[in-house]
Amino acid sequence: MAEKKKPGRIRLGVSACLLGQPVRYDGKDKLIPAFKKRWSRFVTWVPVCPETECGLTVPREKIGLFGPGPAFRLKGLKTGKDVTGQMVHWTEKKLDELVRANLSGFILKSGSPSCGLTSALDYSSGVLVSGLFTSFLQRRFPDLPLVEEKNLAYSEVRENFLDRIFVYKRWQEFLEKDGSIGGLVSFHARHKLIIMAHSVRLLSLLGNLVASARNKAAVLAQYQKYLTAAMKKPATGKTHTNVLQHLAGYFKKVLPQEERERLAQQIKAYSQGALSREEILSSLRHYARRYRQRYLLQQFYLFPEPEEWPLRFISPGL
Ligand code: SF4
Repeated sequence: MAEKKKPGRIRLGVSACLLGQPVRYDGKDKLIPAFKKRWSRFVTWVPVCPETECGLTVPREKIGLFGPGPAFRLKGLKTGKDVTGQMVHWTEKKLDELVRANLSGFILKSGSPSCGLTSALDYSSGVLVSGLFTSFLQRRFPDLPLVEEKNLAYSEVRENFLDRIFVYKRWQEFLEKDGSIGGLVSFHARHKLIIMAHSVRLLSLLGNLVASARNKAAVLAQYQKYLTAAMKKPATGKTHTNVLQHLAGYFKKVLPQEERERLAQQIKAYSQGALSREEILSSLRHYARRYRQRYLLQQFYLFPEPEEWPLRFISPGL
């Protein structure tokens, strides 16, 4: 059964062994303490273990993927016992259940023949591919942000994943509660700077789409497609520098010269890796409030949701 929804909190699917459930083939877990403790303050987890939930025992024979793809087979590494049918049958039912789970993303165990995103070994070719459960998950939820746990140790990957899951969450909430053209205009306005950090080109396409919106269903579908494509492009130090310079432009005429120069120096220091983005954002928030910049006061880039910001600083520490 899907876990009951707690409103407001972000809901993430997670490979159950990462939360400390002893479900691996050897009866052990792959606990990431930061997920179980600190991330749990902000996230409602929906743990899934494809191998045990499809009926395999603990402990069990280690299984692996055998190509050629895309019709990979899951087989025991010693006996060759084929459990593909069992896994596929369960996965199809599980994905129906996950439609109702309101997930905003999924953290997957790297290297697993079931859960891996890009790191499951195809024993036939030696190539790394997606695990069997994950390849079905991707097909069923092509816009859902997915990541392997090991990559979240890198702050840039973590920030990009957090950007993606919170934008996805707000988009799903918008579709559920509003879905109007007026609501889309407002959604787009509040996300402009986040999208700019990911793709200036797609921001422009999205802007044109919103400006010429007529047929609601077609526009929403196209907007979602472009939004997903934009958010899949990683924001970098360079793209954030561009956004910060754009933001500084709002205060060019109102800031005293000394503060204007200090802001420009801060942005330069950030672009050279000598200052954190948070230090500049803190100044920009202050200026947005001081000069009552209504447009900026609504930007999620400057004012993220309360639970979003702390998660950026909690590394899984692998
Ligand atoms: S990697 Fe996936 S299938 Fe393997 S034990 Fe963890 S949750 Fe279960």
